[in-house]
Amino acid sequence: MTDKDPLRRYRGKRDFDLTREPRGRPGAGGGDPRFVVQIHDASTMHFDFRLQVGEVLKSWSVPKGPSADPRDKRLAVPTEDHPLEYENFEGVIPEGEYGGGTVIVWDHGTYRPLSHDRRGRPVPFDEALERGHATFCLDGLKLRGEYALTRFRGGKEGGEREAWLLVKAKAESARTAGRAAPDPRRARSVRSGRTLHQVAAEGRGAEER
Ligand code: MN
Repeated sequence: MTDKDPLRRYRGKRDFDLTREPRGRPGAGGGDPRFVVQIHDASTMHFDFRLQVGEVLKSWSVPKGPSADPRDKRLAVPTEDHPLEYENFEGVIPEGEYGGGTVIVWDHGTYRPLSHDRRGRPVPFDEALERGHATFCLDGLKLRGEYALTRFRGGKEGGEREAWLLVKAKAESARTAGRAAPDPRRARSVRSGRTLHQVAAEGRGAEER
């Protein structure tokens, strides 16, 4: 671990007396690395794509969400590392707080890092990300198969804001291709079957009680 607290940025943005998002705890993890895709109805609707690397979820905001079609290049803008428990976060972040709005878990599962160097040796996933290109195979309930994340802007110290592309790496048969990102307002949580609207309505109910 290079950083003393890998979640410093995450915690700095949030008041945990006001939001029910997890604070994160050290020493979590173990087993196959996890991924999660959340739909976040914040000031602008977007998907949050997160991959476990060590004790954190590396995170990108993907406005259109991941596609199952290799011809689609989806913009992915990095956001701060999130705690592993965030995989299970679904609910309403209070208005006025950072990321205020409703969150549902659209898909989750495990992934297998696939990046190799020119000699065919595996590259550690965090190193691949640092270099700006990582390939991986998702095993989710909706998303399946090979994807690549590639940085195309920024990345140098003090440079412009980073921008990446999230692309399905290989065409597959319709049976194994996995599902494309849905209309976010109709999408249902893989955890609870609820829509954003239902989670928001229940969140408001909880506040009134
Ligand atoms: Mn978000």
